[in-house]
Amino acid sequence: MRTLWFEQALLPDGWRSSVRFHIDAGRFVTIETGVAMAAGDERHHVAVPGTPNLHSHAFQRLMAGFAEVRSGPAGDDFWSWRELMYRLVGAISPDDLTVIAAMAFAEMLESGFTRVGEFHYLHQQPDGQPYDDPGEMAAALAAAAEQTGIGLTLLPVFYAHAGFGGLPPNAGQRRFVTDIDSFSHLHAASVRAVSSLPDAVVGIAPHSLRAVTPDELAALIAMAGDRPIHLHIAEQIKEVDDCLAWSGQRPVEWLLDRFPVDQRWCLVHATHVTQAECRALAKRGAVVGLCPITEANLGDGVFPAADFIAEGGVFGVGSDSNVRIDLAEELRLLEYGQRLTLRQRTVLAAPDRSNGRVLFDGALSGGSTALAGGAVLGTGQQADLVELAPIAIDAGDRALDHWIFATGRVENVWRAGAKVVTGGRHYAHAAIAARFEAVARRLLS
Ligand code: ZN
Repeated sequence: MRTLWFEQALLPDGWRSSVRFHIDAGRFVTIETGVAMAAGDERHHVAVPGTPNLHSHAFQRLMAGFAEVRSGPAGDDFWSWRELMYRLVGAISPDDLTVIAAMAFAEMLESGFTRVGEFHYLHQQPDGQPYDDPGEMAAALAAAAEQTGIGLTLLPVFYAHAGFGGLPPNAGQRRFVTDIDSFSHLHAASVRAVSSLPDAVVGIAPHSLRAVTPDELAALIAMAGDRPIHLHIAEQIKEVDDCLAWSGQRPVEWLLDRFPVDQRWCLVHATHVTQAECRALAKRGAVVGLCPITEANLGDGVFPAADFIAEGGVFGVGSDSNVRIDLAEELRLLEYGQRLTLRQRTVLAAPDRSNGRVLFDGALSGGSTALAGGAVLGTGQQADLVELAPIAIDAGDRALDHWIFATGRVENVWRAGAKVVTGGRHYAHAAIAARFEAVARRLLS
């Protein structure tokens, strides 16, 4: 039994002062509010629930910051990034993946994420042949989750085509490709691969409308049952144009017209949507997975978040390419994108909640839905807790505002009751970083 006392904590019914959490076997046994600190209590400042990171490709952490030169034709801003990504895709072994993912997962915990939705498509051997165990690469990710303590929602990706209309995949994509039959084996193997993690979830991820045919998408939805369904959609203008050329409709419009999209679904990016698509998406309750840092880095565009939220839309955030892993910065950039577009301040703030609070509540609730698992500071719930630095004035929502817009700094993080981050540093950071550096030197040279 461990007892943590906080000056303030964000409980499901709002901010409370002088809060004492009793934690046993990874869960909150009791939560008292308005109580004085007692002998033996650990004293802390501001507690908030851990936030889900709803979209990550952990292996891409390896190339973070190394695709900032212009090597392709003018105007093709995606080119240098994709070229490096495909080169690395051919070189990463299962052991390499564990090392790279452990680095990414440790940094996620350090920034206040306590669960990751890993959109996992690196399934096959470098020559495209399956591993003896189709869950080999999934097991590599599970090992990284176990080493770092992060919660894992694994999203095995179905990827079969290079473009709309069932185009055959190209050589750079051979590690991703399966058919429906081999994917069902891979999915079962993925479930086995994460079975040693106590609270892992396995969903399903049709990569995008480019990479699956309508028949394949129908088969995947049937396979998903009640599990989360994630897909990339409408990230770049070219994808919208290609979809229009193929079907006469825009990607989101096409999807909503044909499939039972609801709160089980997470539509990642959805950057390029019309007002009608935005409204229809909000109505269905699907989570929009926003990845502001990656979307900025790749020059994707700005999602109309203000309109979407005004329609009651549900969103969460993800670190996607992991070019930089920083929860506060994802939320800050989400708001700043709106400010720069609309030329207004405090765009997403509500009459009764500050900007930081709206961003944080959104990411927590949308992320929890999308990953079928999230943190709740409630009795009986798993103790996934993040401590923010104290601020000079009385806290409440201002602690979130100050964290998101000013410091970005997380103090301590507990995952399933275990303290995994102390003073902003993951307990295994040094060892993980040393292994990561060795892999990076070998693969990037
Ligand atoms: Zn992605």
